[in-house]
Amino acid sequence: MQVPAPFEYERAESVEHAIGLLERLGSEARLVAGGHSLIPMMRLRLANPEYIIDINDLADELGYIRVEGDHLHIGAMTRHQHLLDSDELASHFPMFRDAEKVIADPVVRNRGTIGGSLCQADPSEDLSAVCSTLDAVCVIRGSGGERVVSMHDFHQGPYETAVGDAEILTEVRIPIRPNGSSAYNKVERRAGDWAVVSAGAAVWMDGNTITDGRVGLAAVGPNTTTIDAARDLLQGATPSEELYAEVGAVCSANCDPDTDMRGSAEYKKHLASELTKRSLRTAVARATGQEA
Ligand SMILES: Cc1cc2nc3c(=O)[nH]c(=O)nc-3n(C[C@H](O)[C@H](O)[C@H](O)COP(=O)(O)OP(=O)(O)OC[C@H]3O[C@@H](n4cnc5c(N)ncnc54)[C@H](O)[C@@H]3O)c2cc1C
Repeated sequence: MQVPAPFEYERAESVEHAIGLLERLGSEARLVAGGHSLIPMMRLRLANPEYIIDINDLADELGYIRVEGDHLHIGAMTRHQHLLDSDELASHFPMFRDAEKVIADPVVRNRGTIGGSLCQADPSEDLSAVCSTLDAVCVIRGSGGERVVSMHDFHQGPYETAVGDAEILTEVRIPIRPNGSSAYNKVERRAGDWAVVSAGAAVWMDGNTITDGRVGLAAVGPNTTTIDAARDLLQGATPSEELYAEVGAVCSANCDPDTDMRGSAEYKKHLASELTKRSLRTAVARATGQEA
């Protein structure tokens, strides 16, 4: 039986209370949200925090999806199931629903949170790839106030983020831009498994011209990543199968997956190309109202 090492348990009643507990208990304290990444790691003794600070009572305070001005705001305690069910989220960014349909299973989706997903910083994390593709920013709060960090700067290596010892991720903000859409595709070994590779694409159109486009990949390197060279090719381009193939090839060339139990590096590079093509094709079809 896999049993975590002994730990003390605290329950935070507000964001300020959680920050106060983190400050008082020090670097051996860890927040627990859905627990679907932290608890398995504790059971395997890959994580051995002395203190667990449960933030599930913040589900009301930090569990929301709402539009404010030209940004969509998602609270860090918003659970996968809420993200999957939200028509408002799907109408702005359909790739969220694409991704949530293939994340884990209902048990995990009922508890796991977007904040936990981003803070886990697993290189295969689907929501990190989605947020990177959509150019999201992360709001981090500590006793000194709030700071806003881009997705690029948020992930600092596998399982490492910009969140400090006495800080908490409170919100993800995504810019809403007109005439855009998005899509996400993933290959997994079995239903609900982590990605072998996944690719998200977002495009913004003016008539039949792509004015801007972004591609984000998961499971192809130390962190989920966007591919700058893909953006360069997409800006100002006319959608075509040739364009999607060219962008797919560039994404494949610009990622560096490892060979592991999920597949060879060569196979993963092939997937990076193929899934990029599929996501671009769907994103453009959605943006131009042509999705079947
Ligand atoms: C069987 C299984 C299958 C899965 N399949 C997939 C999959 O296909 N794709 C996928 O992307 N994910 C998958 N997951 C992971 C799942 O999405 C988790 O819910 C997610 O990784 C972590 O969210 P959580 O809320 O459970 O985080 P927790 O486990 O509670 O926390 C994870 C880490 O984040 C920190 N943390 C949590 N919230 C905050 C916050 N607000 N501020 C600062 N730090 C915070 C914690 O201290 C901890 O270090 C799977 C998990 C399981 C168990």
